[in-house]
Amino acid sequence: MYDFLAQSTRILQQASRIGGINADILNWLSAPARTVVFRIPLKMDDGSCRIFDAYRVRYNDALGPSRDGTRISADLNLNETQALALIMSIKHAAGGIPAGGGKGGIAADPRQLSPREFETLCRAYIRYLRPKGSAYDVPGADIGTNLQTMAWMLDEYESLTGFHEPAAINDKPPILGGSLGGYEATGSGVFDVFAEAAYETGMEVEGATVAIQGFGQVGSVAAQRFHDAGCRVVAVSDSRGGIYARNGLDIAALLEHKSDTGSVAGFPGSEVLSNAQLLQCDCEVLVPAAIQGVIHAENAGRIQARLLIEAANAPVTVEADDILAAKGVTVVPDVLANAGSVHLCQMERTQGLSDNYWDIETINHLRQERLVAGYRAALNTAAKHQTRSLRLGAWINALRRIEDAIRMRGWC
Ligand code: NAD
Repeated sequence: MYDFLAQSTRILQQASRIGGINADILNWLSAPARTVVFRIPLKMDDGSCRIFDAYRVRYNDALGPSRDGTRISADLNLNETQALALIMSIKHAAGGIPAGGGKGGIAADPRQLSPREFETLCRAYIRYLRPKGSAYDVPGADIGTNLQTMAWMLDEYESLTGFHEPAAINDKPPILGGSLGGYEATGSGVFDVFAEAAYETGMEVEGATVAIQGFGQVGSVAAQRFHDAGCRVVAVSDSRGGIYARNGLDIAALLEHKSDTGSVAGFPGSEVLSNAQLLQCDCEVLVPAAIQGVIHAENAGRIQARLLIEAANAPVTVEADDILAAKGVTVVPDVLANAGSVHLCQMERTQGLSDNYWDIETINHLRQERLVAGYRAALNTAAKHQTRSLRLGAWINALRRIEDAIRMRGWC
């Protein structure tokens, strides 16, 4: 079975060894600093009572308050939450963001709940967790949460404290102090980082063939940006299956088809493709934008893409990373490729704390600039350590920043 935390810990150890991170620091970072496990009772519409497991992990706060996502999914567990919190710590630090990594969520399937049950559960999560505000731990959105859920959570938090504090919750709607550009931040950022990696590897953007697994918030926005830049998006999939069109898919029409039918499957003029086939299809750029662990030792050898952009968190296992490196595939890791949302959250926080809100051009410009800076810093560090692994370059940069902060604080 895929052990998310063990995989992330292996990268931590590898990067620490190559980057010369002190053993005490590595020991400190080998487990989360704080984990809260709690249970939420919910009165269901039929009068029965169900209990939901919930979590909040604050991995390390040497650089600043913990921040990031709240995942609501049926099979969420502590292992996954801790691994994601570690990845968030690294993502913030690799991008030069003064924040620690946090992750939380509820083991529940939102589709199985009525609108009243779902809202009550989201509000109860905040009531039971009692987050302590923008200087301590800031929950944001993730799978299963969105603008509406974060609005409920902010309202619940402010009801508990009695104060308006928009920066206490991230990924909220602009009308409640959120930032513009939140929905597009990750998918658009995936394209920004791809464009830089294409330039670096000598790939022509115009006409490049692209396959994208996952057509949700991240995958669909990225698909539109690839399409707009003249790439040929030849394959796309979601949990119900995939589609392929050699000459490229019309993304605007595909979005309409998905909105009408709930899936990309059955898009007129396309061939049927399974999710497994999509990963191995004939393309130059592969963008896994769905779930973790999909590219592993068994299928990595059959990947045809030259450039793999990790839009999802941890879609490539450690074993697959080695196989891809040996094949000469450039992997742009999650902590760089999907960092658009953490840069956006940093901007959301800055706007909320200063009560000064920016236009979308400023936000898009800063996001692109900061993503490219993180990518280039990882590239330089990888070169210094004589590795082509951007993942190691990014993790080493992040670990050095965390190490410096821990030392200056006098913790180790
Ligand atoms: P989403 O729920 O909007 O979309 C997920 C997509 O993946 C859907 O199209 C779904 O049908 C598909 N999918 C689910 N299971 C699948 C499977 N087994 N095989 C193929 N497709 C499958 O989620 P999202 O917000 O687009 O996030 C996608 C990934 O990106 C997740 O790993 C998430 O953690 C990561 N991520 C998201 C953000 C963000 O801002 N939304 C930021 C960073 C990382």
